[in-house]
Amino acid sequence: MQNQKTDKVRKEIRIYAPGMPIDGTYDLIMTCCACHGPEENRQFVWKAEDQIYYQEQGYKEPPARCKGCHKKLKEAQRAAHNATHSAAAKH
Ligand SMILES: [Zn+2]
Repeated sequence: MQNQKTDKVRKEIRIYAPGMPIDGTYDLIMTCCACHGPEENRQFVWKAEDQIYYQEQGYKEPPARCKGCHKKLKEAQRAAHNATHSAAAKH
């Protein structure tokens, strides 16, 4: 039983600092730039596997927003895009 440890599944969590290498070694604690409130309420975890996905997508900058804020931003961008698009289409 004791040999059946799953050390590889448990990853360390680190607080992200600018310039830190992002290679999916650790889960990183990020601070959302769009959330309100004290810093501890704005923190979110950037999963190691998401970091690898990010790199595969060619992103250079780490996410500045938590998932909730990211979603809101995307929705706002889409709404703005649709608004300009339909305004232009109406002519
Ligand atoms: Zn947020």
